[in-house]
Amino acid sequence: MSEILDLTAAELAAAVAAGEIAAVDATRAYLDAISARDRDIRAYNETYPDEALARAKRIDADRVAGKNIGPLGGVPVALKDNLCTTHGRTTCASKYLADFRAPYTATAVAKLEAAGAVVLGKTNMDEFAMGSSTENSGLHATKNPWDVGRVPGGSSGGSAAAVAGRLCAAALGSDTGGSIRQPAAFCGVVGCKPTYGRVSRYGLVAFGSSLDQIGPLTRDVKDAALLTQIIAGGDPADSTCLGDSVPDYLASLDQPIPNLRIGLPREFFPNNNEALRPDVRAAIEKAIEAYKAMGAEIVEVSLPHSRIDVGDDGAISSFAVSAYYIVCTAECSSNLARFDSVHYGHRTKQPVEDIVTLYSRSRAESLGQEVKRRIMLGTYALSSGYYDAYYNKALKVRRLIANDFKAAFGKCDVILCPTTPTPAFRLGEKTANPIEMYMADIYTISLNLAGLPGLSLPVGLSDENLPIGMQLIGPVLCEENLFRAAAMYERARPAQWLPPCAN
Ligand code: GLN
Repeated sequence: MSEILDLTAAELAAAVAAGEIAAVDATRAYLDAISARDRDIRAYNETYPDEALARAKRIDADRVAGKNIGPLGGVPVALKDNLCTTHGRTTCASKYLADFRAPYTATAVAKLEAAGAVVLGKTNMDEFAMGSSTENSGLHATKNPWDVGRVPGGSSGGSAAAVAGRLCAAALGSDTGGSIRQPAAFCGVVGCKPTYGRVSRYGLVAFGSSLDQIGPLTRDVKDAALLTQIIAGGDPADSTCLGDSVPDYLASLDQPIPNLRIGLPREFFPNNNEALRPDVRAAIEKAIEAYKAMGAEIVEVSLPHSRIDVGDDGAISSFAVSAYYIVCTAECSSNLARFDSVHYGHRTKQPVEDIVTLYSRSRAESLGQEVKRRIMLGTYALSSGYYDAYYNKALKVRRLIANDFKAAFGKCDVILCPTTPTPAFRLGEKTANPIEMYMADIYTISLNLAGLPGLSLPVGLSDENLPIGMQLIGPVLCEENLFRAAAMYERARPAQWLPPCAN
């Protein structure tokens, strides 16, 4: 069985299509792995064993009957728990939505299922996707399969841990400021945040609507290209979703990019061990050497408004992180206002004298600290008298950040940098200091502000044997180049590290 668990999604799909592995056996292998090992990792909030097996059985029957079972036919996948599905619950890892059953299915999920994927269950996350460690989950914490004393990253920590821990073949996550790429880096898997609007957000519970994007977490670059290919494309149900045709990412994947120009933003390599740990820097430098050996040209670029600042006191700061925490909190304060406990969601059992008390008591009882903090910050930033000073200012910074990237892409095809300044930190290490936690996304956040696609792939191991991720960034709608550039690296130095507890 361990053979099934070792296959990538594309390999497994090919084996199922060829009749070499039954979809039922693949599904059972993953369900057994979850029963055996998810007690320690706790990647899942909920699994659907009966439905998954029934669906796998139908896929096997369809194959025998000669029907097309799709490019993911029989491949067991996991979904972040903020993706609506009519089956099971969609909790966003919040006590507020602990019993919520969505009346519709997210477009990205429907597309994955139409491609033949078998949904194993929903994965844990930071509550409403707010966080970088999955410790903000209102349900339970998820552990990093490489070291169960450490966080898997967040907010898509459950999806990343499930892929790394061989508890699903591939998974979907969402990324508002780094929530696919950062956990991918911490767990040693590939994570892709497509261009804003490339994938429909219909059925993704909104956090920061101008930033949110759904994307895959996978074992390798090919799987990331395959899943992105399947979920991308226009959707009349999401007016921000781009109608541009989706290129065939797989067709070009094996072709190296001739004369590839890689941009290194000088502001992303600060000379400070806190802002960028030496072993992370060394791994990235090694990757740069690997690209040079493949004939890539390295050019220095500048992203002044995304720069990482280190104060005299050692404190790390960034315009991008500051602007993000105005924009995302403003948007979340508005998005989460829908949770009024009237139609659905947690409702207080205490007697209430009026509707406002019903709202406030229900929300106070069931929303976590970080969610409350952000609603308050966002409400403040949007309030009259402060709107110009905070929200409008943040939008201006956002524009400057996007302009910097545009200028940089005049000189290079992709930008390369670390995904995170450090490898996975210990459980509890940053929970007392939200600002320190926010800095985990210092390399990822500016892409969301600029709407750009980014991909994280494993490039090495840290001093403590933890995965290190490299981020590749492309211009808007240039996912194809990201996949090709990432595949070039992967072919040269294939990542064959398996977390200790995946065996
Ligand atoms: N860690 C960031 C935050 O807390 C990003 C989260 C995300 O991308 N969903 O907001």
